[in-house]
Amino acid sequence: MSKTTKILIVLLVSLMLCRALWNLSKSETYQVFGEIIPRVQTEEKLVALTFDDGPTQAALDELLPKLQARGVKATFFLTGNELQRRPDLGKKLVEAGHELGNHSYSHSRMAFKTAGFIKEELRKTDELIRDAGYTGTIHFRPPYGTKLLVLPYVLANQQRKTIMWDIEPDSYDDVAASSAGIVNHVIPRVKPGSIIILHVMYPSRSTSKAAVPGIIDALQAKGYRFVTVSELLNSQKISSDLTAQQSPQPQPWNLADGIRIKTGQLGKMSAARHVIGIGTETGRAGR
Ligand SMILES: [Zn+2]
Repeated sequence: MSKTTKILIVLLVSLMLCRALWNLSKSETYQVFGEIIPRVQTEEKLVALTFDDGPTQAALDELLPKLQARGVKATFFLTGNELQRRPDLGKKLVEAGHELGNHSYSHSRMAFKTAGFIKEELRKTDELIRDAGYTGTIHFRPPYGTKLLVLPYVLANQQRKTIMWDIEPDSYDDVAASSAGIVNHVIPRVKPGSIIILHVMYPSRSTSKAAVPGIIDALQAKGYRFVTVSELLNSQKISSDLTAQQSPQPQPWNLADGIRIKTGQLGKMSAARHVIGIGTETGRAGR
């Protein structure tokens, strides 16, 4: 084998390895350690609306009355540095009954960060969330959805799940171009236990913010109830307990509706669907 061929092979293998690591870091359904939640296993028509980044005053002023008018409790994955600047907004969210989640302190990409850096990001933001008066479980969602080995390891050590999503309308430029486009993308894709991610905190995402009432109204008309991420995870537990009580013998997976599939299995099954999107979208789960 010539030297040039060897170099070419090494380059090709390195490229493939980089690509595999990139796909792994962006996967919504698989991580090496701990539990990753793209959707929850439940037979109830429950759905979680989640908002990333912020808090910002302009977004909350517009959004909170619309959520309240529709009786919707959402989950806000906030960044520590923004919450530190506006602790009053964190309190406002808690008083309105919404769930607060940790979206890191600095909104840095976490894939190649050290355990020390990640722990500090988690700790500082947890503290600010507690200062806002939130007393429930603080779930975590990685900035840009990226993680590799260290972040899942740190989260697993803290017995925390990585909360992802299965519906991400504003990650596709053509969908996010209009609020009607976002609503039309979301409605047919929602299944019991779905987690919708939206970015509504900054003016650049005005179509996402405008789409919220349309998403809620259409899904409520279809019989869906909006719950927080914690409530959704609890429904999974109750649903599993009920299944266990009713069926002492192990039941075969119901592959037809995908509902009885364990979260881990769901991840593996839907990985193929997600792989299609990996690397082809713009602004995926960005700010
Ligand atoms: Zn973000």
